[in-house]
Amino acid sequence: MIQKLKGTYDVYGDLAKKHDYVKKLFQAVCESYNYSYIETPLIERSELFHRGVGETTDIVTKETYDFLDRGNRENTIRPEGTAGIARAIIEDKLYNTLPLKLWYIGSMFRYERPQKGRYRELRQMGVEFYGSNDPISDAEVISLGINFLKELGLKDVKVKINSIGGTETRIKYKDALIKHFKSDIDNFCDDCKERLTKNPLRILDCKIDSDKELIKNAPSILDYLNDDEVKHFEKVKEYLDTLEIEYEVDDSLVRGLDYYTNTVFEYVTKSNEFGSIGGGGRYNNLLKSLDGPDVPAVGFAFGLDRIVSELENSEIKLNLNDELDCYILTITEKENDYALELAQKLRMCGFKIDLDLSGKNMKNKFKEADRYKAKQIIIIGEDEVINDEVTIRDNITKEETKVTIDNIIDYFDVNL
Ligand code: AMP
Repeated sequence: MIQKLKGTYDVYGDLAKKHDYVKKLFQAVCESYNYSYIETPLIERSELFHRGVGETTDIVTKETYDFLDRGNRENTIRPEGTAGIARAIIEDKLYNTLPLKLWYIGSMFRYERPQKGRYRELRQMGVEFYGSNDPISDAEVISLGINFLKELGLKDVKVKINSIGGTETRIKYKDALIKHFKSDIDNFCDDCKERLTKNPLRILDCKIDSDKELIKNAPSILDYLNDDEVKHFEKVKEYLDTLEIEYEVDDSLVRGLDYYTNTVFEYVTKSNEFGSIGGGGRYNNLLKSLDGPDVPAVGFAFGLDRIVSELENSEIKLNLNDELDCYILTITEKENDYALELAQKLRMCGFKIDLDLSGKNMKNKFKEADRYKAKQIIIIGEDEVINDEVTIRDNITKEETKVTIDNIIDYFDVNL
């Protein structure tokens, strides 16, 4: 038997309904903020991620699915959505009409060690807001995410927020971190040893060394921000206060991707079982670094898989709307033609209808109606066909009513 790859899973049945529910709600919330949908390819040139996400990030050094295609070109299956969208904005000159508010959803692939809440095929949904460096756009993007989580019913969520400044601030801060960690780096994990010279900010969110005193009393990036960066951060927080969004400043939050500038944030649940359920920030240098124009941007991505797990853990009942309006069953095969025609007519009127086509016995037909959560059952026998009048059973009260064929739609309009 051929088995699925490690870190992947199949989506069907109730899980598929939950995924669908979450996706549709995300779409609705994005549309209510006037975002439009964008879909970019699953595969891109490897260089895009090396330059866009960052050569020294964990994603690029250890996690990308890279392959040579038959023309010997280096390609990568996307590990995240932002870089591909940035490429599309440059290539298709979408920056000619700003601001640009885009939302996306889809699978991403990262060669990580699979564990609970961490997959190799992960599904992300996110937004990208290009064309404004005003802190109000940071706040709007953050609020979109919070509103979505609230509408899902996830109440125990908050935003962790930090500012990591611009390039110059980060150069100064990196120097300070190198000085701080240098003397004791031998006691850190191998990854951190490498990070010290390549990307010392990442030492701050190392999962292995997080309890070390040296990490706890590391210099704070907030002390290195210049006046404009401080002002920007203060304004973002002010707007979050206006919107009554609960946030916590966490100066160790640096995020794993190189393209961030100024604001970074993560959505966490208070139980925090899987780490963050989403994260994002501002990336004013991303387009420029990919040879595009100088256009500021802010955005985030949610992990769909983690959000669905979180909903299950919190025992939140989703209104999955998975009932059938009506299940049609026939007493003998002779009534099948009549049933088919009736099903056709009701479906064309927008009702969700199924009918038994398998020739099961009556008991099993009723069981099937229950399995599909049918609200009403239409029973058609010989007499019903002759008289053009069917028996409709309310599947909750079990009451039966005779209804003429021409009155079924009116009956459903009142009783469904
Ligand atoms: P990132 O793109 O790394 O900033 O991650 C954004 C969100 O995607 C995280 O908050 C998670 O919810 C989700 N995520 C990231 N990596 C994984 C993974 N390997 N498996 C499942 N979800 C993930």
